[in-house]
Amino acid sequence: MSRKRAKHPNGRRATARLAAKAWLPPDPSIVREIHRRLARAHGPLDPPRRLDPLEELVVTILSQNTSDTNRDRAYQAMRARYPTWEALARARPGDLVEVIRVGGLANTKAPRILAVLREIREREGGFDLAWMRSSSDEEVEEYLTSLPGVGPKTAACVLAFSLGRPALPVDTHVYRVASRLGLLPPGATARAAHRVLRDLVPVKLRVALHVGLIRHGRTICKAGRPRCEECPIKDICPTAPIYLRDAVEPGGRKSRESPRWGRAYWRSGGFRPAHVKVEELGCRRDLASGGHPGRAIATGEGA
Ligand code: SF4
Repeated sequence: MSRKRAKHPNGRRATARLAAKAWLPPDPSIVREIHRRLARAHGPLDPPRRLDPLEELVVTILSQNTSDTNRDRAYQAMRARYPTWEALARARPGDLVEVIRVGGLANTKAPRILAVLREIREREGGFDLAWMRSSSDEEVEEYLTSLPGVGPKTAACVLAFSLGRPALPVDTHVYRVASRLGLLPPGATARAAHRVLRDLVPVKLRVALHVGLIRHGRTICKAGRPRCEECPIKDICPTAPIYLRDAVEPGGRKSRESPRWGRAYWRSGGFRPAHVKVEELGCRRDLASGGHPGRAIATGEGA
């Protein structure tokens, strides 16, 4: 008589936790190699123009879930209607929603912008954040993330693009591409992703890698099916075998990418799979001899 195994209600979450535990960060030389190839493929990885800290903060809020073009349109319309920060802080939420509607999610962004401006005016007695230029990264980050609705990505954008600090903002493109490249543990929270990449990426490369990962995510490593065939880092990407049929060795398993199935990780020495099944699909000898034992796929629950 066949017996069905009962599924644990928290099985999926438990598997994700185990997979995250099994993750080990890649060797720093892999990060440098990824940066080098992204720079070659996508041109100079220069950051966007530098803005005043408050301007950068508001622009970053406007940029959520929209294109650069629509973000800029919304910003220009907003500044045309409310030329000073004081005027903007006094705006009625409904009016601001209409003015920035072109930027998308206006019902969320308008109250967030107003709450941030009013909080800054309350704390600073005005809108001057010039003190940030002579403050430490930690002080600036702590201040910004204490503002209503401001998370680590927005704070990192202000640090990187306004203050010229070595921060690496993790937006949706950076998160997706870095995860596929094995630079992030599976299921990392936004806060954890910032921490992991900050520890992993050398100071000098952080802003450039942010720019490179975004360009790569928009053009090649897209959401949905990535274009691994034309990717300049496919030979060192642990996710590539999932999409490249011919990269699977005899006996290897093809898998789909999903939060619980077919996640790929760097394997560097003591991989602790626990209940996660690990299959090695390919191993570049030249990388292995340099201390990078190639690629491995942890297929997770049900493998
Ligand atoms: S090989 Fe594929 S999954 Fe890996 S970075 Fe390139 S496009 Fe993304």
